[in-house]
Amino acid sequence: MKAEIIAVGTELLLGQIVNTNAQALSLKLAELGIDVYFQTVVGDNAARLKQAIEIGRSRADLLVFTGGLGPTQDDLTKDVLADYLGRKLIMHEPSMEAIRHLFSSRGMDMVESNRRQAHMLEDSFPLENTTGLAVGNALEQDGTLYVLLPGPPREMIPMLEGPAQDWLRSMLGEERPLYSRLLKFAGIGESNLEAKLLDLIEGQNDPTLAPYAKEGEVSIRVSTKASTVQEAEERIQKAVDLISERVGEHLYAQKDIPIEEEIVHLLRASRRRLASAESCSGGLFAELVTNVPGSSGEFVGGVVTYTNAMKHQLLGIPMSQLEGDGAPGAISESTAVLMAENVRSICDADFGVSLTGVAGPAESEGKPVGLVYFAIAERDKETVVYKVQMSGGRSMIRLRAVKAALYRLWQ
Ligand code: ATP
Ligand code: MG
Repeated sequence: MKAEIIAVGTELLLGQIVNTNAQALSLKLAELGIDVYFQTVVGDNAARLKQAIEIGRSRADLLVFTGGLGPTQDDLTKDVLADYLGRKLIMHEPSMEAIRHLFSSRGMDMVESNRRQAHMLEDSFPLENTTGLAVGNALEQDGTLYVLLPGPPREMIPMLEGPAQDWLRSMLGEERPLYSRLLKFAGIGESNLEAKLLDLIEGQNDPTLAPYAKEGEVSIRVSTKASTVQEAEERIQKAVDLISERVGEHLYAQKDIPIEEEIVHLLRASRRRLASAESCSGGLFAELVTNVPGSSGEFVGGVVTYTNAMKHQLLGIPMSQLEGDGAPGAISESTAVLMAENVRSICDADFGVSLTGVAGPAESEGKPVGLVYFAIAERDKETVVYKVQMSGGRSMIRLRAVKAALYRLWQ
C-alpha cells in the first residue's frame, strides 16, 4: 500500500510551526508496513487543498490528513473532502454531546462554529478524540482510503495510536506488518560502521539494514515484513548474528537506550559505583550518567575541575605536574590518570573516570583542538588511559569524547 501524508495549515508553509506530525505519521505508517511515497504540505485554502487531494489520489492508495478539523473558518479539511467526494457532512452525535457537555460544565455558551468539530463525512468511520473536541474520520471511496486527523500533536498522536491505527490495520487485511529491532553501537563512527557492513547493507533486502547517527551514537535498524512475530524474530536474529561477527565488540544494546543507561544497569548488576573528574567536558559525563533514572545508586559524584588551581585543590594533583617548565601539563596522559585515580579514591568508588583535553575553538598548552585524554581507574587494577583526536565543533568534541569514555568503561 502506498500512502501520502497531507499536512494542512498555512502556518506550516510560513515556517511558523514545524511539521512534526508528518514525522510521527511516517514512523507509524512504516511500523504498519505501509510505504509512504509522498509528504505534502498545503495551506488553509479550499482550492489548493482540493488540488492536493486530486494529486494524492492519483499516486497513492491512502491519504492521511492532519490539521484543519477545528471550529474556525480556516479549518476546511472535512468540508473540502466532503465536497470533493460528493458526500454530505453529518453530525457525530457522541462528539456533539461531549462538546455541549464541556461548554455547559464550564458555564460557557457554545458558539455555532463549535458544532463543526462534531461533523463527519456521511458513511464514514468516526475516530474518537480523547484529548480534544474535533472528531476524526476514516473512509474508503473508489479504492482510496482517507484518514482525517486533527492538527495539534496532543490530539493527533492519541488518535493515531488508538482508533486510526486500529482502522488501518483492519483495512490492511492480508498485508504483512513490519517488524524491526534497533541495534546500538558505541566506539565506532557511522562511516566506519557502514564500511564494515557495506555488503550487508547493500546486498540485504530482507531484513533491510538502515544505519543512522544521532547524538554521538550510531544505530542500525534491522527490519523485515513477516506474518508472525516468530518468523520476524528468526530472520532478524540471523542478520544480527552476521553483524555481530564483524562489529560485535561495538554492539552494546539491542534496544533504543544510550550507552550511559547500559552502563548504569551493568554497575547495578555488579553492585559497583562510579565517580568522575572532568575538565574539557565540563560535567557532561556526570550529566549523561545522572540522566539515567535511578542512577543515584551507581553514581557517587563528580567534580568539574576546569582550572589548574581546582585540579590541585580538589583532586590533589601537584602543581608541578600541571604547569611549569617540563611539566606534562593539564592535558596529558599522566594528568588524566591522576584525576581518575584521585576522584575514585576521594569518592570511594569502584571506578573513577576522567576527561581532560581541548574542546576548542582555540588550542591550549600548544595542543590541538579535539585532543582528549581520558582515563579509567578501577579499584585494585591498573589505570588505563586513552588518547583520542576528535573532530567537530566544541560541543561535538565534548560529546564524542564523553561517549568514547563511556564506551571504554562499558568494555
Ligand atoms: P484546532 O482545533 O486546534 O484548530 P485543527 O485540527 O484545526 O485544530 P490546525 O488548526 O491546522 O488543526 O492546527 C492547530 C495547531 O496544531 C497548530 O497551531 C499547531 O500548533 C498544531 N499543528 C497543526 N499541524 C501540525 C503539524 N503538521 N505538525 C505539528 N503541529 C501541528
Ligand atoms: Mg484549526
